[in-house]
Amino acid sequence: MKDRYGRVIDYLRVSVTDRCNFRCVYCMPPDGIPSVSHDDILRYEELLRLIRIFAELGIKHIRLTGGEPTVRRGLVKLVREIHDMPGIETISMTTNGFLLPTLLDDLKDAGLSSVNISLDTLKEERFDEITRTQGNLPQVLDAIRLAEESGLNTKVNCVAMRGVNDDELADIASLAKDRDIGVRFIEYMPIGKHDYEQAIYKDELLDLLRSSLGELTEDPSPRGNGPAVYYKPEGFQGSVGVISAMSHAFCDTCNRVRMTPEGFLKLCLQYDVGVNLRSPVRQDLTDDQIKQLILASLDRKPEHHTFLDYAEKQDIDTRDMSLIGG
Ligand code: SAM
Ligand code: SF4
Repeated sequence: MKDRYGRVIDYLRVSVTDRCNFRCVYCMPPDGIPSVSHDDILRYEELLRLIRIFAELGIKHIRLTGGEPTVRRGLVKLVREIHDMPGIETISMTTNGFLLPTLLDDLKDAGLSSVNISLDTLKEERFDEITRTQGNLPQVLDAIRLAEESGLNTKVNCVAMRGVNDDELADIASLAKDRDIGVRFIEYMPIGKHDYEQAIYKDELLDLLRSSLGELTEDPSPRGNGPAVYYKPEGFQGSVGVISAMSHAFCDTCNRVRMTPEGFLKLCLQYDVGVNLRSPVRQDLTDDQIKQLILASLDRKPEHHTFLDYAEKQDIDTRDMSLIGG
C-alpha cells in the first residue's frame, strides 16, 4: 500500500501490551502509567485478523513491541501464527531483554527473525537508575549474548543521553567488536516525558564515537527495515548505527505504520493521526470494509514529523512511548 506521498508502507509495528517490567526514565513516570483495561486491549484473535488484513494489503514486515512484549502471555503462539501468514517475510521484536533468555529458543523456533534489545549502560548502578529496577543488567547482557549465539539477527538499542551515559557510548558500541551485532544509538525523542537538554544528535554522537573508536567507515550491509545508518570501526566484526530521527529526519522514506495495544492504527510517531481498528473488528465489519478504512486513513499520514519545531503543535500525540512501542 502507498500513502499520498507515494511512500510504500510495508512495515507494521505492533505494540502488543502497554505493560512493562521496567520503568525507564525516558519512557515512563516512576510509578508507570495507568494500565489500559484488559477489555480494551486487542485479543490475539483480533490482532491476528488485523495483521492478516494488513498482510493482504502489502505489509511484509512485522515488529512486536510494547510496553514489554515478553510480558504478554502467548507471545510464542502469536509469533508462530504470524509466521504462517502468506505475505509476511520477517517478524522482529523490540525488548528490554529481561525475560528473553527463557523465551528465546521457542521464539526462534516459532519464526522470529530478529531481535532488538535495549541497553543504555554497562554500569550496574546506572542500569538500575535508568530502568528503575534492581540488579537486572547481567540478565540483559546474557540475553544479548544468547540472542546472537542463537543465530538471530541481533541489535542493541541505546538511547544516548547527555550527562547520563555519554561517557560510555564507545564501550557500549564495543559490544559489536567481537560479535556480529548492530549497536544503534537512538536520539532521545520528545515523546511523553522528555528532557530536551539530554538529547545528543547524530553529528555529535559520531564525533564522540570517533574520538574513542577511530575512523568510522559507512557499512552498507542492511540489518533491518529501519532507518539506522551503520558504520564499521576498524577491527569490528559487527557495526555501530545511529538512528537520527530528530536531527536528520528520514520521513521521506518512511515505510511504516504502528498499532497500539488498543488497536489504534497510528500513522506517524509524533501525531495522534490514524484510525481506531478495534471497534470495526468488534462490530464485525468485513475484511474489505476494514481494508477500506485502513487505506482511507493512509491518506492522512503526515508528510513529516516536526519534533524540532515546537511551534507546530496540532494533533500532537500525548501517549507515552510505552503505549506506542518506539
Ligand atoms: N520494552 C521494549 C524495549 O524497551 O525495548 C520495547 C518498547 S520501548 C518503548 C522501544 C524502544 O523505544 C526502546 O529501545 C527504547 O529505548 C526506546 N525509547 C523509549 N522512549 C524513548 C525516547 N523518549 N526517545 C528515544 N527512544 C525511546
Ligand atoms: Fe519498558 Fe521499554 Fe519503556 Fe523501558 S523503554 S519502560 S523497557 S517499554
